[in-house]
Amino acid sequence: MTPEHAIKSGDPEALNQLLQPIFDTKAYEKAKTEGRMMAVGLPAGPGAASGVMVFSANKAEELAAKGQNVVLARIETSPEDLRGMIASDGILTARGGVSSHAALVARQMGKVCVAGAGDIEIDYHKGTLKCKGVTLKEGDAISINGTTGEVFHGKIDTADSELKQVLIGKTLKPAQSKVFQYYDFIMKLADKYRTLGLRTNADQPDQVENAIAFGAAGIGLCRTEHMFFEGDRIIAVRQMILAKSEEDRKKALATLLPYQQKDFEGIFKALDGLPACIRLLDPPLHEFLPQHDNKKGQAEVAKQLGITAAEVDRLVAELHEFNPMLGFRGCRLGILRPEITEMQARAIFQAAASVLKSGTKVKPEVMVPLVGFKKELDLQVEIVHRVAAEVMKETGKKFAYTVGTMIEVPRGALTADEIAETAEFFSFGTNDLTQTCLGMSRDDSGSFLPAYQGLEIIKANPFASIDQTGVGQLMKIGVEKGRATKPDLKMGICGEHGGDPTSVEFCHKIGLDYVSCSPFRVPIARLAAAQAALRNPPAAPTAKVTKDSKAKPATRAKTKVK
Ligand code: PEP
Ligand code: MG
Repeated sequence: MTPEHAIKSGDPEALNQLLQPIFDTKAYEKAKTEGRMMAVGLPAGPGAASGVMVFSANKAEELAAKGQNVVLARIETSPEDLRGMIASDGILTARGGVSSHAALVARQMGKVCVAGAGDIEIDYHKGTLKCKGVTLKEGDAISINGTTGEVFHGKIDTADSELKQVLIGKTLKPAQSKVFQYYDFIMKLADKYRTLGLRTNADQPDQVENAIAFGAAGIGLCRTEHMFFEGDRIIAVRQMILAKSEEDRKKALATLLPYQQKDFEGIFKALDGLPACIRLLDPPLHEFLPQHDNKKGQAEVAKQLGITAAEVDRLVAELHEFNPMLGFRGCRLGILRPEITEMQARAIFQAAASVLKSGTKVKPEVMVPLVGFKKELDLQVEIVHRVAAEVMKETGKKFAYTVGTMIEVPRGALTADEIAETAEFFSFGTNDLTQTCLGMSRDDSGSFLPAYQGLEIIKANPFASIDQTGVGQLMKIGVEKGRATKPDLKMGICGEHGGDPTSVEFCHKIGLDYVSCSPFRVPIARLAAAQAALRNPPAAPTAKVTKDSKAKPATRAKTKVK
């Protein structure tokens, strides 16, 4: 077998099996023979998890702190559940697709996840999970297999993967593991062929370290909102959201600033000079507040903020939107509340200056979400540049940075030539681009997508693998128009598709510079990128090499019109 043939014949997805905890084979077979399988959902985060079932983030944290293995079961998750997801070994949801919040956060953290197990019924008030005649109470044991989507009642023993023990846990030395040696050989071989750069979607230093160990060369998406849920800072976030005046909002933001700065310092240090693409606040604000059906949570917020629970409920109702995904989110937040962008830009640049002072190089890239109009980007870029200049003056430190945008609504792709006049880079947000191009909600498509696949209306789940004929056209237009304005405009992808082999090949073909995916999908993208390069050899001599891509495929050269 030639090296090329070896690389071309491997299945990138199979690498997943080397990374995930597994059920102990005997215990798994026993559970199946005993008929303990209750339901099958979507395999949204591979691996096996077994532990105590809980229904809330608080309970997950409480039990995990006592050293227990926990599986968090929710009807669906929101950023409010983040702490619980971190504390849990596995996540199970009754609703949601493969790019639902639960699924993408789980993959980013490398957590086991079964999403959209529609047969299970969770009742938070009664504290029960029911399925096919079996009723489990909070505290009962449950086991999930995120590779197959299977859900079992009762415990099934698990074991950490060998590769993880070498790369992440560092409990095994490379020389002790044959699995690692084979893996490393294949990865290094793949690197010889791939022309696409590799980045990761990460918002915590440990995630960055994991991704670098897997071969990522920077962050392609840091979702800053995930940092809002750590420790006590959620109180300040809520104060900021519920503030009645600009002055109050600024006070709350001032409390958040040092936290965010510290987060970014941690990230810059972990990156040690590699680029960090940091996205400004994106989600709709109601995601940070306990909703109408969470009276206990609302009472807690009322106490923390010194207002009545009724007032919290009224404010939550005021923020309610029928379709928050198309509502007050993305750059719309930073445009109407410029002080939020100011705080985040200041935190990024103060962190950059401080890390630079300690001798570590930094490469911040500030990314504006959900841009559909050039003017939207102009308004945000103006703030970012102003704050950068202020911080450089205050700290006496000079640092290079860029400001770019996500291309994640169709208008952004269609007017990419105009947007590229301001943007210094593009990153395709294919999660939102898919939902807006197809008019299918990324969270509510579980009810009909499987049937659509059965009827062959669509071949694959468009939220997992790029719909090349539809969304793909928008991406091609975005690339061509963007590069018509700026031939060297750096372009990547940071939607969940960045870790899907078929989508990686598509990204290679349309001439993106890099793909960015969850840390634990980096090896998969690494091999897929090599395969893409081998399957699509450049027709003409390759164009010049930039830092994010090792060489340009022919299609990239073709887009350099002008
Ligand atoms: C996207 O829309 O593809 C994206 C990366 O952003 P998010 O998933 O946070 O909306
Ligand atoms: Mg998005």
